[in-house]
Amino acid sequence: MAASEGGVAADPSYIQQNSMPEDDPNKNEQPLSVEGNQPRWGPQHAGAKELANLYSGGKRLQEILSVGMCFPLLAATFGFLCYHFQWDNSLAILLSAVAGIVTADFFSGLVHWGADTWGSIDVPVVGKNFLRPFREHHIDPTAITRHDFIETNGDNCLLTVLPLAYQVYKFVTLSPLEIHNSYMWECFIFFVAFFVMLTNQIHKWSHTYFGLPRWVTFLQDYHLILPRKHHRIHHVSPHETYYCITTGWVNYPLEMVNFWCRLEELITAVTGAKPRADDMMWAKKSD
Ligand SMILES: [Zn+2]
Ligand SMILES: [Zn+2]
Repeated sequence: MAASEGGVAADPSYIQQNSMPEDDPNKNEQPLSVEGNQPRWGPQHAGAKELANLYSGGKRLQEILSVGMCFPLLAATFGFLCYHFQWDNSLAILLSAVAGIVTADFFSGLVHWGADTWGSIDVPVVGKNFLRPFREHHIDPTAITRHDFIETNGDNCLLTVLPLAYQVYKFVTLSPLEIHNSYMWECFIFFVAFFVMLTNQIHKWSHTYFGLPRWVTFLQDYHLILPRKHHRIHHVSPHETYYCITTGWVNYPLEMVNFWCRLEELITAVTGAKPRADDMMWAKKSD
């Protein structure tokens, strides 16, 4: 049965049986697969070991630079927004915050789906640097909980650098009236960037079953950020649904219209590419 078949969200026992039992420390690694004697998940999986070894010094440097650029830019944009704040903008700020969260959630799904579904590790530059973490994550889902702040957040920070730099440029060059007129839009872009930056940290928390701060589990329990149970639906092979990982709110409407499946059918019809071919190849790797 496919993960989304028959509304798998309504079948918790199916999800429990077919995803890595990461909430039980003694079963953090599924010892044997149903088909053979290879680990299905975890750091001892042959594919996971190979992918972990592809994390390079150059990649690490890119992540450090991305984090190093993202946070000052976010702080600068926030400072400019505060400087130009007016009380009659309050409702606009609230609305742009909600729109920003929803947009970031959709983007998280789009990027996650694209990286999971298409391309391969062999694609020059992109494969080893940007697709590798997605392949590793399906066969060793708890690896993310062992990644430090830089490795967890570097790539998401990178995505925010250009839009934020452009925003700072605008704040420096536009007149106060022009900034006043586009204030809601600038707030929206800031919130999208802020939640894109937070997305993989939130995703990491959704895989962390031990030692999370109480305020994080509170946000998860009230579904203000991606809950653990919700994200587990994605981690049922062949990983074909529930791609949104900021709050996961957008997963519900996308699931109702079978969004990802339709998009894949369209891309396959146009290009002939088979969805998740590379992901399946890595999942089947053995020593
Ligand atoms: Zn995935
Ligand atoms: Zn995950």
